[in-house]
Amino acid sequence: MLDQRLDSAMLKTKDSYIVKLKEMGIKTLGDLLTYFPRAYRDEQEFTKINELKTDEVNVLEVKIKTIMTLPTRAGGVITRAVVGDDTGEISVMWFNQRHLKQMFFKGSQIILTGKAKFEQGRIVMVSPKYEKPSSILLHTGRIVPVYPESEEITSKWLREKIFHVLPYAKYFDEYLPSWVLQGEGLLSFADAIYHVHFAKDEEFLKKARERLAFDELFMLQFMALRRKKWWQEGFTGEKKRFSTKLDMVEFYSALPFELTGAQKRTIEEIFTDISRDFPMLRLVQGDVGSGKTAVAAAVIFAMIKSGYQCVLMAPTEILAKQHYKNLVNLFADFAFNIQMLTGSMSASEHDAVVTQMATGTCDLVIGTHALIQEGITFPKLGLVVIDEQHRFGVKQRAKLKTQGFPHLLNLSATPIPRTMALTIYGDQDLSILDELPPGRTPIVTRLVPEAKRKDAEFWVSDQVAKGHQVFIVCPLIEESEAIQVKAATLEYERLSKEIFPQHKLALLHGRMKGDEKEAVMKAFSAGEINILVSTSVIEVGIDVPNASIMMIEGADRFGLAQLHQFRGRVGRGSNQSYCFLFTDSNSDDALQRLKFMVQYTSGFDLAEMDLKIRGPGEIYGVKQSGIPDLRMATFSDKELLDRVRSCAERLVNEDIDLKSYQALAKKIAKIESQTEIAEV
Ligand code: ADP
Ligand code: MG
Repeated sequence: MLDQRLDSAMLKTKDSYIVKLKEMGIKTLGDLLTYFPRAYRDEQEFTKINELKTDEVNVLEVKIKTIMTLPTRAGGVITRAVVGDDTGEISVMWFNQRHLKQMFFKGSQIILTGKAKFEQGRIVMVSPKYEKPSSILLHTGRIVPVYPESEEITSKWLREKIFHVLPYAKYFDEYLPSWVLQGEGLLSFADAIYHVHFAKDEEFLKKARERLAFDELFMLQFMALRRKKWWQEGFTGEKKRFSTKLDMVEFYSALPFELTGAQKRTIEEIFTDISRDFPMLRLVQGDVGSGKTAVAAAVIFAMIKSGYQCVLMAPTEILAKQHYKNLVNLFADFAFNIQMLTGSMSASEHDAVVTQMATGTCDLVIGTHALIQEGITFPKLGLVVIDEQHRFGVKQRAKLKTQGFPHLLNLSATPIPRTMALTIYGDQDLSILDELPPGRTPIVTRLVPEAKRKDAEFWVSDQVAKGHQVFIVCPLIEESEAIQVKAATLEYERLSKEIFPQHKLALLHGRMKGDEKEAVMKAFSAGEINILVSTSVIEVGIDVPNASIMMIEGADRFGLAQLHQFRGRVGRGSNQSYCFLFTDSNSDDALQRLKFMVQYTSGFDLAEMDLKIRGPGEIYGVKQSGIPDLRMATFSDKELLDRVRSCAERLVNEDIDLKSYQALAKKIAKIESQTEIAEV
């Protein structure tokens, strides 16, 4: 029923509107019914004319005393009416609304919504919204739902059409277990759908939103807890424990620095995992520069010394190479066999590495995530470290279970609030690196208004002349990579010719070949290039200590998380580093977010602030991390999260396969297929 495609007859509309709805992702009856309001206007109370307040929106229920429609000189029409209730009369005017003539007559009742003003001693309403009181009130005189609009599809139109199909809401199956509904006092899903659109009163609206928010968090939490069980399940193999002869002092003395407290604590947490009965599944979250590599290196060291093979996977080849270089360096004193496996290797080089892995002579192999997908076997695989690889999910984990069931360590530079991490990444144990290595000078962040652009560019040019290096990130234009690349190319040409003609610039983007990218990065690392212009491909990783200036164009188009990642590209050396945010946006929200960037340097602080200012449906701009959008819930509702968690835990323990809850199983399967969350 609800899967039925929308058509013009069903909605009493034109085909072109059906097409437009489709463009908004609304294809079926179910889609339309779950197109939720973005806000509500409380217009439940009618105002009497003698209580009218000017410059405020008033809702009146009045009778038409006189009404006439006259032509104007410009060729349009003007409709003038006098309306009144038992307390007084006012004038009303509309322009070019010819159909009013057929709808309202002398003596008709009418509901008006709009602002009133004083004009020549009289109260006048100009172009108020109107509705006939005989029908059920949709657009006024109630809690009015306000829908996200597109250019052609207005909120008012949606309100009418959704109301029209609302009776079908009863066909939504209830999918939550009844013990959840009863225990938590939740509305049924069908009732929640009804009241989220056309709530009877505030109490019902609150209950409807609570139910829908509960669902969103519940699915996420259940999926996470189920992934955790799946990981631990079926572990029968040999426990990959550390050798009793392991001497970590050897490693610590090879490190060129003292570990931070947070690094030490995290390593302890990992070592405890490894001594447990089932393989580790841990997520280490830490800001860029917090030293996640050293943590991973400590564990890799311990595993290799205990006789196991390790794998380190990075999201890009550039980063894989960087890790390779760093680790070869760090492990120089130990006779480890460390190899790289990348897409750009020749077949024979590739085969040679694969053979070494398969025969167990290779201790550590570093590559991109493709590494595990090739079905390569490692006879003694003990540990897999995954750096910033958000798409590494259930399937890949299942594969790992058949490849020796190693310990699994995820590293992420996207700090998110703890409440959120526990829900979304509830399948993993969590370590937080909330401390930066000492001696770092905080990065100075500035929001640069257009008027100051020239000054900023001049200053940057001067800094380059003094030997500093610069990143320039081009704005995010559209999701299309081709458009992105084109825009960055144009920007690069403009900057090279007009703004920084005296400096050496280079361009980096996702469409370049691996070796081209590498050549550019190499030249930038070597200081042969002063200014690197790029699309957002430089987001992750990249360690060039001499780069001390980050300029971000169209900063308002990026989420805070992403801005924070960009900023993390600088501040890696001993120089004072700077981050300049450019924007032409005047939106208060956008500017507020950018001001947070200026104010806070810690990613965790930024994430918490972001959670506070954002409503449901917008979380920290981490779409690229595979975190789904929430439409109703927020991660700041701790009380709800606690309720959700205890229900999800009970369900995972009682019926992990959802044998008794087919509707829920179906719903969750759909969510998993639509989002990448299953793959975090
Ligand atoms: P990320 O967490 O972003 O992956 P890295 O592991 O790349 O950070 O570390 C960033 C830089 O900090 C590297 O140059 C690394 O050598 C250095 N570093 C890491 N830990 C420490 C420490 N405890 N003291 C000083 N420098 C450190
Ligand atoms: Mg890193």
